[in-house]
Amino acid sequence: MALRILINGSKGRMGHALAEAAGTLGLTVGAAVDVGDAIAPALLGCEVIVDFSSPAATKSLLELAIAQRKAIVLGTTGHSAAEKQALLALAAKVPCVWAGNFSVGVNLLFALTRRAAGVLGADYDAEVVEMHHRFKKDAPSGTAARLLEIILEERQLTAAALRHGRAGLVGERTPTEVGIHALRGGDVVGDHTVMFAALGERIELTHRASDRAIFARGALRAAQWVVAQPPGVYDMQDVLGLK
Ligand code: NAD
Repeated sequence: MALRILINGSKGRMGHALAEAAGTLGLTVGAAVDVGDAIAPALLGCEVIVDFSSPAATKSLLELAIAQRKAIVLGTTGHSAAEKQALLALAAKVPCVWAGNFSVGVNLLFALTRRAAGVLGADYDAEVVEMHHRFKKDAPSGTAARLLEIILEERQLTAAALRHGRAGLVGERTPTEVGIHALRGGDVVGDHTVMFAALGERIELTHRASDRAIFARGALRAAQWVVAQPPGVYDMQDVLGLK
């Protein structure tokens, strides 16, 4: 029987993209809920939650998944590091895929960024630039946050190295800082560039999303994969076998 998913955030941009993609990938939308709808009864007839809504929804969704022993795919972004840390303990109690970006191309960008940050070394100044549509509520994007995490990991730096935009007389760039710049406008689905600049050369790795169907297809692929996994928190690299 086709896998039945519950879409949380069904009236949003991603909710619509998920409903459209589900049929073509052989999944059934067992329930589609948004703000104010009762989720618990709707979830009874589904095997997995696919959530693209608001960070305020994540804790109660995870508690519900635990109570009903359901798998969950979390696509919502915008949690603070402290929030995410607390939520991970809950998420680990069910099969959970949590990813800031479900596109295959971006997951390759993650792998390429790790490689570049390692090979190029500290003499290459790292900066991340992202652009999204004017309606996006959080900044920087979850994808940019993951790219930054990878650069910090490779360079053995902490979050204190991050520079969110620059304004005023900030002085010369320090060798260890990692800049992040969030642009907003129009209907841009999601652009990310990682830049490594040294004296004499610059490398830019860019991914541009032009259709949010790529995130929907990736999230649904994750849903099909995660229902067969033991409890634990996985990411898209696990789903795609990139680890
Ligand atoms: P959107 O604003 O178009 O839609 C969000 C929907 O969630 C709305 O219909 C809203 O009413 C609903 N919602 C809000 N709070 C809710 C709650 N507590 N319970 C149930 N529903 C609730 O936003 P969007 O563009 O569809 O993006 C949704 C989220 O997914 C954002 O956090 C965005 O950053 C993230 N996103 C992630 C990826 C990824 O690949 N991980 C890709 C695109 C978007």
